[in-house]
This record gives sequence, structure tokens and C-alpha cells, in this order.
Amino acid sequence: MGKYIFGVDVGGTSVKMGLFDVEGMVIDKWEIPTRTEDGGYRILPDIADSINAKIAEKQYLKEDIEGIGIAVPGPVDADGVVNKAVNLGWGVTPVKATIEKLCGIRAQVGNDANVAALGEMWKGGGQGFTSLVVVTLGTGVGGGVIVDGRLVGGADGAGGEIGHTRVVDGEEEICNCGCKGCLEQYSSATGVVRLAKRALAKTDKPSILREREITAKGVFDAVKEGDQVAEEIAKEFGDILGKGLSVVAGVLNPAAFVIGGGVSKAGEMLFDYIRPAFLKYVFPGAKNAKFTLATLGNDAGIYGAAKLILDVE
Ligand code: ZN
Repeated sequence: MGKYIFGVDVGGTSVKMGLFDVEGMVIDKWEIPTRTEDGGYRILPDIADSINAKIAEKQYLKEDIEGIGIAVPGPVDADGVVNKAVNLGWGVTPVKATIEKLCGIRAQVGNDANVAALGEMWKGGGQGFTSLVVVTLGTGVGGGVIVDGRLVGGADGAGGEIGHTRVVDGEEEICNCGCKGCLEQYSSATGVVRLAKRALAKTDKPSILREREITAKGVFDAVKEGDQVAEEIAKEFGDILGKGLSVVAGVLNPAAFVIGGGVSKAGEMLFDYIRPAFLKYVFPGAKNAKFTLATLGNDAGIYGAAKLILDVE
């Protein structure tokens, strides 16, 4: 077995790269720009060049490298082929085969939300749990499902897409996915802003939110300041998310929900709003799920990508 692993997280503007030892200690961490123009054909060669240069810089041998794990923002099949990644300009792209050819090192590829979940289980807020659901409340809502230590990718790589489960009937606005009433429309950072704007339009009550540009963080800050309208928004957010997660719990019975993404910067107070609805709706046999905060932030992807290598011999 090699001594080192590369963990690579390909994003729409930059590629995060990490060099780890097999215990998961970071040896080096850096970024390169993602060149998405012209169908993104330079992205994989850029990654390979950067890895090969790092190996040379560290004076490692190829045999010292156990593998290269890669997280990509799109669905990935069992052969490491990505079927369309809009943010990268990619159509069908054989990521695993291309990197293995360019670097001469074995590679594993996973969807970024799922891979980030693996990272949180390994070294983040999900440590100690083997069945968990990582919920990322960012611009959208991402989900990563791990059962008995293994990622659940599903038949088409869409496993864990809890952001696009329907939780509200009668929604007029269309979600990014084309459906209406998705969890993402209420629980993402943009979703919280939407809820806030609706709530403010519905009432004449004074609120400090009327004097500021509304952000998800601003809403929860206003809650801490005792703002009544913000409190109602937080309750609506928690009610919808808690109910959504109760369904997930009924299916998977996870030991923990690990909450990450920009909205999670509000901290543990989020759980005061999510938990009541969760406990109200959940199947009693699945009610013991713990709520924890993700801790790796933007590094969850590189950790999880490295872990992909350890999980596949
Ligand atoms: Zn949707």
C-alpha cells in the first residue's frame, strides 16, 4: 500500500487539492483555477499536471501514492464516468480513466455532495457514526447518505438528493430542478431569504430585517436579537426542514444528521427550530437521530475524495 493519497474537489471556479497520508492527515493543500471554457476539456489535464508536479516537488515515487480521489459536481457511474456536469461545461466525461492515464495512478470518482458526506464521517462532524445523513444547506440543499459506512449513490447517482424531495404543496415558484415545493426552496440559504421576503410582505409588524439586505445569516442573527418576525421565519424554516428530515429518518434510520453549508453558520440554534418538527413527525423507532454541525467546511470534499481511495481496494 502507498503512503499518500490525493483528494481533489472540482468546483465551478476552482479545484481544491489535498495531499494526505493514509491516516487522513493533511500534508499539503492548494487550489488551481477551473478552466471551464470550451467544454472544460482542460480541467482534467490541469489536475493531472498539478498532481504530477506535486509528486516531483515532494520527491515521491509513483508507488508511494495509494490513489487519487476526485469529487465532481455531477452524477457519477460505477466506472467513474461523469454524465454531464453543467458547472464544468462537461458532457459525458470519463474522469477515472483519464486521470489514471495521465497520472499512472489509480483513481476513484464520486459526486461532490456524497463525497463531502464521506469527509464529514471520516474527519468532521459525523465522526463516530457509520449511518448518517449529511445535509448541506448552501445555495442549494445537498445531501449525502451513508449507511454502514458506505455511500448510497443510487441507480443513477441521484441517491441522497433530499433537497429535491417535495415537502410543500401549492408552491407557485419553480425549483432549479423543474419541480415545485422542493425542500431546497425553503431550507437553502436562498430558500431562507425567500421565506423571509414572503413573511415580511405578509405582515406590518416592525422588524430589523426591513432595514437590511436579507441573508440567511441575517435572519438568524435577528432571531438572536429577539426580532419577532425573524423568529417566525426561523420556525417556518425549522418546521419544513424538520418534517423533511423525519421522512428521511423513517427510510434510513440514521444515527445522525450532520448539518453543513452556509446556513449552518447560525450554529446549534438551528437545531432548536428543526428538532421540534422532526420529533413531532418522525416514526418513533427512528427518533433517536442526533443533530450535529459539519466541521470541515469547504475542505469536506478533499477529505472525502481521499477517503474514496481507502474504501476501494
Ligand atoms: Zn427541486
